[in-house]
Amino acid sequence: MLIDLHGAVVPVLHLMDAVVGMEGNGPLSGTPAPVGLILASRNPHALDSVACRIIGIAANIVPTLSLAEERGLIDGEPVIVGDDPACLAVSPFHLPDTARPAGLLMKISRKILARFQRGSRFLLPYPEVISSACIGCGACVRICPVEAASHHERRAAINLSRCIRCYCCHESCEEAAITLRQGLLSRIILGNRQ
Ligand code: SF4
Ligand code: SF4
Repeated sequence: MLIDLHGAVVPVLHLMDAVVGMEGNGPLSGTPAPVGLILASRNPHALDSVACRIIGIAANIVPTLSLAEERGLIDGEPVIVGDDPACLAVSPFHLPDTARPAGLLMKISRKILARFQRGSRFLLPYPEVISSACIGCGACVRICPVEAASHHERRAAINLSRCIRCYCCHESCEEAAITLRQGLLSRIILGNRQ
């Protein structure tokens, strides 16, 4: 969807404000990380690939970069104007818990399950409420677009059969009381029992 959107809108220039980045589980629960950079490119995928190089993220764990490469939207090695990314490296950079390399088995599974809307849920990370951290503010309930989040005795609960994995609840919880867990198939394929 993101790649299609870019194909439809086609901005003239893409800017990345990386003066302060975020490590870990953003956007509210991460840790601010000083990077000190502003990046710009006419090609958003080239921009992302250079940014990934700077913070030490393998391109194959970024779905938009893998797909952009498959679609021929990254035209060889990006031409760098300005500082050499190798001199700007800030790794090790702590990634979100859900970031995992997409091996061949995972890629095949994604393609097969993408044909079945409900099946793809087993691959995607799902939100889980940490009851001990929830203060019952109701922000997740109000923001959920499909009424999958609800309140019970001042604690949030999520109905995963309704959930569309948009992660708005995770992003809106200021108490970091909603974490993301790997989907069942992801755990089996990746051997990760998170
Ligand atoms: S937003 Fe967070 S703290 Fe508020 S009800 Fe939902 S899970 Fe609980
Ligand atoms: S991930 Fe989206 S759909 Fe699922 S419970 Fe949270 S806000 Fe609702």
